[in-house]
Amino acid sequence: MMENEDKRRIPLKWKWNLLITGATLILLVLFSLIVFNRVSNVLINQAKAGLNDQAVVINKQLGKYNQIDKQIKIGENYPQQRVSIYDPHGKLISGNRAYEQIKPIQSDRITIVNDQHNKRLVGLFLVKNTKTNKLIGYLRISNKFNNYNKIRYKLLETLFIFVLIGVIIISILSYWLAAKLLLPMNEIQKTINVLKTDPDSDQRLEINSNDELSDLGVVFNGMIDQTQRYIHQQQQFVEDVSHELRTPVAVIQGHLKLLLRWGKDDPKVLAESLNASLQETKRMESLVTEMLDLSRAEQIEINYGNEIANVNEVVNQVYNDFKMLHDDFTFTFDDDTYYESYIKIYRNHLEQLLIILLDNAIKYSETRKEIHLSLSSNTNMVSISVQDFGEGISKENLDKVFDRFFRVDKARSRNKGGNGLGLAIANRLVKAYQGDISIESSVGYGTIFQVSFPILKQDPK
Ligand code: ADP
Repeated sequence: MMENEDKRRIPLKWKWNLLITGATLILLVLFSLIVFNRVSNVLINQAKAGLNDQAVVINKQLGKYNQIDKQIKIGENYPQQRVSIYDPHGKLISGNRAYEQIKPIQSDRITIVNDQHNKRLVGLFLVKNTKTNKLIGYLRISNKFNNYNKIRYKLLETLFIFVLIGVIIISILSYWLAAKLLLPMNEIQKTINVLKTDPDSDQRLEINSNDELSDLGVVFNGMIDQTQRYIHQQQQFVEDVSHELRTPVAVIQGHLKLLLRWGKDDPKVLAESLNASLQETKRMESLVTEMLDLSRAEQIEINYGNEIANVNEVVNQVYNDFKMLHDDFTFTFDDDTYYESYIKIYRNHLEQLLIILLDNAIKYSETRKEIHLSLSSNTNMVSISVQDFGEGISKENLDKVFDRFFRVDKARSRNKGGNGLGLAIANRLVKAYQGDISIESSVGYGTIFQVSFPILKQDPK
């Protein structure tokens, strides 16, 4: 840790900037060198061609003679240019005295000679008699090459300015871009720091552009929302569970105190209290089981993703079980299907779902004890509905019945053994298997719960 903190920290912005600027500098210098080299070559070739042309003109004059001697005049020397002629032994006949003697050559030759800081172009040519083609001497033309030197210098200067300006512009641009790209990072860090100190904070990233960075912001904000929701749900769950457990614990505690004080000597009170306490422990057991069911239902996608069940068979079986167990109720089963439908669901989960709906229909039908079960399907979906003619659910409670621990009448539901988790489990099961659940209800007339699932395959009955 200490070592890390001690290490010199180079901001990402600068690393990025250095990298881009360095790479640009290398590229621009390479490019300039190539341009410089090409232009130099073109200039040299032009100058060589010019020198050659001059040599041809002069050679034409000299070619008339049989031998070169001091009498021969070859025009004037210019400041830029010096023309010298030599006999076949390389001895100077006329021209530049600095070169009295040259080495005889076999063929024409043009070379670049570095003369102080400037370059000179020096051409050595054979001079032959035009008629006999016999070697009569040599011609030396030395060109000051002024034009070339000037252009080269100018080009070098221009390229240097070009590289310098290019590097400065790229450096500024890359710094600006890096700063812009990294801005959301800073914002994310700030937001995370605020959330660290206050996990409930409303602080979110500001989104004011429409690009990949704003996408990142949206995903980040969504993640924070989801995490906060999840934390709140967990807190709520713990609160709800403690609240639910408080009543049975209080009841058992009350009975135990009663027994401790004087009830243990009275066999009637003893039996009553023990029975009541037993009843409460049973309720706690069912509460714990249902809570476990709910928590397992949250992980269905992972554990039961590949299970398949025959809907017709399961509905029939549950219907027969209920008919047998509740003979005080009139059950009817309306099966409208021509095919047996298979859906993606773990068989026990489909059973559990139907049991929750049928159990509720029974629990909340006190006067008219009649239950209609129906099954129908089209090519895509299979639907099961459970209808009762009991007390019904009012409009404002319709949305709430799927919430954990919600009961329209807490005391009455409790008396019937209800924990308010049945429909929460049912809803979670349906959603986990990509199904849908809906309610239609009218207070005093009854309720219809309908669940539907996408069909995986159908077989004729
Ligand atoms: P519980 O265990 O209390 O039955 P549920 O989650 O199954 O919990 O149902 C939540 C509440 O919805 C019940 O307390 C009840 O008030 C209401 N409810 C559920 N099913 C029916 C129904 N068929 N008829 C009337 N009310 C119902």
